[in-house]
Amino acid sequence: MNKPSRRVHYLSATLHLLPLVSLMVSISLFSQVIIGAPALKPSATAAPRYLFLFIGDGMGPAQIKLADAVLENGHALKMTSFPVLGMATTHAENRYITDSGAASTALATGRKTTVGTISMAGNHLDTLLTIAEMAKAKGMKTGIVSSVGINDATPACFYAHTPSRSNSYDIAVQMASSGFDYFGGGYAEGNLPENRQKAPAFKGDIAERMRSAKYLITHNRIELQKVKPGIRCWAYTGYDAKAAMDYAMDRNPENIALDEFTREGIRLLDNPHGFFMMVEGGKIDWACHANDAAAAAHDVKAFDNAIAEALAFYRRHPKETLIIVTADHECGGLSLGNRTNGYDTRLSLLRRQKISHQRFSEKVSSWKKSGTVTFPMAIDSVNTYYGISMKDADSTLALTPANYKTLEEAYTTTIKPESTDIFTSAVTGLLNVRAGIGWSSNAHTAVPVQVFAIGKGAERFRGFYDNTDIAKKIMQIAELKKDAPSRINQVNKHRLILPQ
Ligand SMILES: [Zn+2]
Repeated sequence: MNKPSRRVHYLSATLHLLPLVSLMVSISLFSQVIIGAPALKPSATAAPRYLFLFIGDGMGPAQIKLADAVLENGHALKMTSFPVLGMATTHAENRYITDSGAASTALATGRKTTVGTISMAGNHLDTLLTIAEMAKAKGMKTGIVSSVGINDATPACFYAHTPSRSNSYDIAVQMASSGFDYFGGGYAEGNLPENRQKAPAFKGDIAERMRSAKYLITHNRIELQKVKPGIRCWAYTGYDAKAAMDYAMDRNPENIALDEFTREGIRLLDNPHGFFMMVEGGKIDWACHANDAAAAAHDVKAFDNAIAEALAFYRRHPKETLIIVTADHECGGLSLGNRTNGYDTRLSLLRRQKISHQRFSEKVSSWKKSGTVTFPMAIDSVNTYYGISMKDADSTLALTPANYKTLEEAYTTTIKPESTDIFTSAVTGLLNVRAGIGWSSNAHTAVPVQVFAIGKGAERFRGFYDNTDIAKKIMQIAELKKDAPSRINQVNKHRLILPQ
């Protein structure tokens, strides 16, 4: 909760104070040159030089174990090989079950806020400084990567400040003014026509603004690999209607994967003054909202592949690197085991699913448009993409007459012009139940999330604590200064609240 007496009001960002701020910054830089600039001289500090924060959106302990069981034959994922494990609570300031806005604000700033808020206090007046901005102010390079849109709540919380996560155009504008060195992953949803139209003040095309801010923009793998370190870069790949990358299990090999964005980011950010990089596995959450266990497992695995890139970097710089892997919250109330199967699980059945619920649903909507796909034809596709049919080598897995009837009713309803698609969720649900998957929700839950850590200062992450403590620990270990970059005061004409 906010405690006004403990707040430090840095300064009110009125224009007449800006010359004073510039003078203070100049004096500070001048004095650092005179006395040896400890913050800018890598060898003079004990703090890790390279910081990685991985956020698996919606990734609770069950999601991790699911990916491990389905795709790794029970062999550990990279993240679970880390030597330090902690757990964190995730509640928002105003709700026990959080969202990515409040949770990522906590992870980025060390402060609680209200759901839907992007790195501002719950009063929607005070700006909260982020660890990425602090790293930038310290002279480190900064990179933000996400498998959903780069203006989505989690990535936004590291470079933007706005009262609502739905202000995606405003968030995209702040991406251009952030001065951050690398953005990678999905497209900027703030630049999609519907979001530009919704913006209270349209300030031009985001790509143009990025170019004006000296960003090189690419959506091509080969071009990305050729970008030279030191050049600001915004890289995105093929994206869906919400600007997100495809689910990992649907990825067209021509599209850039999350681990590639991470690897190229490391290459571009690596420099003697160090870097901070946040990587989000955003579609784990979307798969769990849809109760699609196979898609969730594949996206956890894709996220783990990105972690493997950081781990390879850590092995080259073990004394100077800190990697934290956590989640903003759990999603779906996923359990491994359900009421129907009791103590039986057949998690490997999820390997039969070849495409995500979203891709299958797109097929269903094309069938609906064409009007030529009968239910028996639809059932053939269910067999092709989910591996369930009336006949199965294992007779206990074959569709029962009751299953068949349920799916037929769902299909008949779905292809009516005014109906939404209930067929895809019925099919996905059927495979999930047979595999022994349980879902208690199609929203987030308050289940605490794991924190894996490796590297310099990692031992500080043992124990059970709050998500705000993760940012506070990073600030302490990395010696991030809690003073404000002047940009913040130019963007937001509000008080800046410093981390406690
Ligand atoms: Zn969510």
